[in-house]
Amino acid sequence: MTDAAVLDALSAALPAVSLAIGEDIEPKYLSDWSGIAIESPLALVRPASVEEVSTALAICNRYGQAVTPQGGRTGLNGSAAPRRGEIVLSMDRFTGIEELDRTAGTMLVRAGTTLETIQAAADEAGWLVALDLGARGSCQIGGNISTNAGGNRVVRYGVTRAMVLGLEAVLADGSVISGLQPMIKNNAGYDLKQLFIGSEGTLGVVTRARLRLHPRPVARITALISADSFEDVTTLLRQTGAGLDGTLSSFEVMWQSFYRYIAEGCFDGKAPMPIDRPLYTLIETHCGEEERGREQMEAFLASMLEDGVIGDALIAQSEREADGLWAIRDMTGELTHLMADHMAFDIGVPLASMNAFVESCRARLATVIGDNAQVYYGHLGDSNLHLNVDASGVSVDGQGRDAHRQVDDAVYDEVRRFAGTITAEHGVGFFKRRYLGYCRSQAEIATMRLVKQALDPNGILNPGRIFT
Ligand SMILES: Cc1cc2nc3c(=O)[nH]c(=O)nc-3n(C[C@H](O)[C@H](O)[C@H](O)COP(=O)(O)OP(=O)(O)OC[C@H]3O[C@@H](n4cnc5c(N)ncnc54)[C@H](O)[C@@H]3O)c2cc1C
Repeated sequence: MTDAAVLDALSAALPAVSLAIGEDIEPKYLSDWSGIAIESPLALVRPASVEEVSTALAICNRYGQAVTPQGGRTGLNGSAAPRRGEIVLSMDRFTGIEELDRTAGTMLVRAGTTLETIQAAADEAGWLVALDLGARGSCQIGGNISTNAGGNRVVRYGVTRAMVLGLEAVLADGSVISGLQPMIKNNAGYDLKQLFIGSEGTLGVVTRARLRLHPRPVARITALISADSFEDVTTLLRQTGAGLDGTLSSFEVMWQSFYRYIAEGCFDGKAPMPIDRPLYTLIETHCGEEERGREQMEAFLASMLEDGVIGDALIAQSEREADGLWAIRDMTGELTHLMADHMAFDIGVPLASMNAFVESCRARLATVIGDNAQVYYGHLGDSNLHLNVDASGVSVDGQGRDAHRQVDDAVYDEVRRFAGTITAEHGVGFFKRRYLGYCRSQAEIATMRLVKQALDPNGILNPGRIFT
């Protein structure tokens, strides 16, 4: 294969497709949120229809040309950032909502549509898109599906997988698998859509999806709570079932390390609550009636205070105050700029051992990064724990490991010790592939490879991601 041959074939077959070659590619298409070192891809293709995606992939497959499917580039594992010689297939021109069924509460959307656009359309129609995350303005639904994104409301509605009713994807050879049916249950053979959800663009390019919407709640009640121990936080979580009558929609935990770091870095040290407790929890309910929801929250938190489960609580009295309480938690994107040499982890640890993990990991990391910042927070309802580390100033060690390798080795070894997962959010991508065996058995990895081989025998889709 020559580069010229594949480019000629693409230009000839897709005259209307936006195609940029080499240095003409806008820099924004060269990296993702991780800021991974920019390499020089062969070209950028921006199809605007399923047929164009199919034609582009068929040509690339014929020439054995590697392709990087790309969404909103908000992932943090380097997966959407093209490597040298790859062709970026950006979905940013394939946007829009094709159908919104107000009666059934379903939506047919194109993969390049941003999550925020989808949320706004559902809201206007009186429905709710369950998925919500800080990157909503940039991430695309195709990217959300390919990473099986979680976010702020998993504790109530589940991960992206739970809202995908049907899916259309294009395989590496250009064939289109269209399963856009709107039924919640369909047991006729394999549920093929599941293969594309969370497989990081390695098995096919997601082009359209039919989403399940939820009735839009009338009100949200938000509260910030401080606590003295992790055990108290888990008691609080357990008690929300009865105390909040099943209306809990978010349960976000911030260790003091995170709360203080963001308050000082982004808000001049001003925080909604004094920074004097070990843990802070942001909880939110989705309810059908504001007054009743507020009374319920007040009664619940009063009983938790009385029982000594929580230290203090602040209930937002308006939408503005609710946004204010979320502000610290939503500033996670700023950590990239606040830390001199920023590293982000999106691990998962069983709830029962999460605090022990945090303590052990903190001590272990201190031997690598000294007093540098390490901040912990997470979507506790789904066992997802975030850890951001400043690896600046760490020198290469006696084994020749650079700073990032030393931090990775320390964190993932702790994850393995605590029987967790190396990724509960962004996927494996490039950065975590060497650690896949820490949380998946050899038999599981072998089966994953079989699936990859069956669907993409020439290995053109996102090569080098997930597997070493
Ligand atoms: C501030 C911030 C907050 C975040 N919060 C959360 C959170 O709470 N929960 C969470 O899960 N994640 C979170 N993320 C991570 C990120 O937003 C999600 O992983 C998101 O789903 C990625 O979508 P994207 O469109 O940006 O995909 P990209 O980053 O462009 O791509 C991600 C992966 O999907 C593949 N891909 C993209 N589009 C397609 C497609 N159409 N077909 C096939 N493969 C495709 C890419 O090749 C890549 O492997 C956050 C990120 C930021 C920056």
